[in-house]
Amino acid sequence: ATPTALMVGTGRGAQLGILLKGPEVLETTRAVDTVVLDKTGTVTTGVMTLTGVHLADGVTRAQALRLAGALEHSSEHPIARALATAAQEAEPTGTLPAPEGFTNVPGLGVRGSVEGHSVLVGRERLLNDRGQQLPPALAAAKDAAERAGHTAVVVGWDGAARAVLVVSDAVKPTSAEAVRRLRALGLTPVLLTGDNRAVAESVAAEVGIDEVIAEVLPEDKVAVVERLQAEGRSVAMVGDGVNDAAALARADLGLAMGTGTDAAIEAGDLTLVRGDLRAAADAIRLARATLGTIR
Ligand code: ADP
Ligand code: MG
Repeated sequence: ATPTALMVGTGRGAQLGILLKGPEVLETTRAVDTVVLDKTGTVTTGVMTLTGVHLADGVTRAQALRLAGALEHSSEHPIARALATAAQEAEPTGTLPAPEGFTNVPGLGVRGSVEGHSVLVGRERLLNDRGQQLPPALAAAKDAAERAGHTAVVVGWDGAARAVLVVSDAVKPTSAEAVRRLRALGLTPVLLTGDNRAVAESVAAEVGIDEVIAEVLPEDKVAVVERLQAEGRSVAMVGDGVNDAAALARADLGLAMGTGTDAAIEAGDLTLVRGDLRAAADAIRLARATLGTIR
């Protein structure tokens, strides 16, 4: 393409809410055949709310929320925001105790000490790894919530798993249409998430994605991109989180949600300014039109 065509394409992109790192990005955009979509914050709004509380015998709702919320107050994860907010609302004073020794366990959850209790909040695996098993009634509640497409967060303290808190995140109203448009351009969408398989399958079904890669630790998202590339696919990755930055950089084309973290925006080749996934399809159409190739 001529420099003029690339400049025109870049300008048209800006009108569509697509910011390119440089005009040459249009070349890789054109060649992509697979689009890997991060789930939380990319396909879904990423704004979670507490929608269910399940407790072991002898545990109160106030106690479970207080211990989990106090710890999550120190985390920036969307799940943490939901739990800290709900816990603050349940406190008569509106304030939560300060945790000690707060530690983020990437892709699994958080741990720390609250009012002398050693507390774990996160995926079941976080607790299982430390010898804590869910009682059968809580395991059943967790399974039911996940089958319904919600995220179940397990809370344990003083050596036992004692509560399951259910948080829900809504699919963005534009995501299903975005997936339809990507498919119409001949691209294969893939959903990638650290969340559990049942939640991922439920979101994938809602937006029309067949290929789901779930329960992936943050540091393994890059390996997923590399594996798809090794299969001979030309991979675009769309993401918003700190978690997604390495995969965005490794992908043939990294698309960052403009509503996401600075780390993702810096790692991407282009930014979807409005955080609307439909702009990913616009970017590909624009690249093909600018470079004069119909595939
Ligand atoms: P995603 O890839 O969907 O953006 P993450 O990799 O950030 O998800 O996290 C994967 C999973 O780890 C979450 O779905 C959740 O179950 C658990 N998790 C991570 N951080 C937290 C936290 N602060 N509190 C509770 N659970 C967490
Ligand atoms: Mg995300």
